[in-house]
Amino acid sequence: MNSLRGKRAVVFGGAGFLGSHLCERLLADGAEGVIAVDNLVTGNLKNLDDVKRDARFDLMQQDVCQPVPITGPVDFVFNLASPASPKDYEVLWLETLRVGSLGTQHALELAENKKAVMLQASTSEIYGDPLVHPQVESYFGNVDSTGPRAVYDEAKRYGEAIVQAFRRKRNVATRIVRIFNTYGPRMRLNDGRVVPQFVAQALRGEDLTLYGDGSQTRSFCFVDDLLEGILRLALSNEQDPVNIGNPREQTIREFAEAVKQAAGGGGKLVFEPLPPGDPKQRKPDISRARAILGWEPKITLEVGLPRTIDYFRGVL
Ligand code: NAD
Ligand code: UDP
Repeated sequence: MNSLRGKRAVVFGGAGFLGSHLCERLLADGAEGVIAVDNLVTGNLKNLDDVKRDARFDLMQQDVCQPVPITGPVDFVFNLASPASPKDYEVLWLETLRVGSLGTQHALELAENKKAVMLQASTSEIYGDPLVHPQVESYFGNVDSTGPRAVYDEAKRYGEAIVQAFRRKRNVATRIVRIFNTYGPRMRLNDGRVVPQFVAQALRGEDLTLYGDGSQTRSFCFVDDLLEGILRLALSNEQDPVNIGNPREQTIREFAEAVKQAAGGGGKLVFEPLPPGDPKQRKPDISRARAILGWEPKITLEVGLPRTIDYFRGVL
């Protein structure tokens, strides 16, 4: 396989949960330079504590909706900049639409100018509330274009469209990863997503808040597995979307029990109204990732959850 050794990468959204892990992994794999570009709207400088002393690392604190001037060669542009939690994008609705459109265009223009590979962080939300299960890349999805999730879902769908347009019309080398629910250290404690929410509640001995009856399903991928998939995709020649996620599906109720057990605490399960537009089921079909990238997840929930809980113990 190709390698990252000696390569220079720009990571839009590099101070976020996934972006900061990506910066760290790029450096660990021998990249010559890594530049994180982030306006910290949902990111955190503390996420970069482990990489900021590395001379090969730089942070540009700016909005990627503004042009992003980078000097010198660039081999990869990773576009991860976007609010990602439903609670975040409900508040940051216009920012989400703007970064998904203008920010993505800037990532593509940067890649075009530098003759770099551009990798777009897309999402399982492309499939909306899916009627095909598990979700295969060829499924067009069931997305509500006016619902509360639309600012995110439609921005990400536009993102895939503009990526493909730059590939077809301007010959930019592009990759699209459709990321399914990923968890791990450095998720923001109060970002509202189910993993930090349940873990924080369990560690504080509070009740765990299940939305709806908890029968909706998700499939949780540990961050290290996701990064391995993303890097394999970046280094491949695959230009069509590839799902990366863990196909082990469970109900949110089962997940709440798993968190309580792993955290060794927590109160009752309490039920609150299901937010409108909340997908009822989600599980990636990873046949393409297996065939094209030789990738599949290795880290089980029994291993990844305790590591995540340890991190949250340290920040509570
Ligand atoms: P995150 O909120 O931790 O990270 C996003 C980062 O982007 C933050 O650091 C934020 O400050 C930055 N950002 C947002 N708007 C910006 C702007 N205009 N200019 C510069 N920086 C900006 O979220 P995450 O979970 O790390 O998600 C990263 C990417 O992966 C997102 O694009 C998200 O849509 C995608 N994704 C994540 C998941 C998941 O489960 N974590 C699932 C599907 C897709
Ligand atoms: N959820 C929940 N309780 C919470 C937070 C989330 O039951 O405190 C549910 C949410 O309704 C959804 C699932 O957990 O069905 C995953 O939510 P998350 O926000 O993490 O991501 P989503 O996959 O919905 O984008």
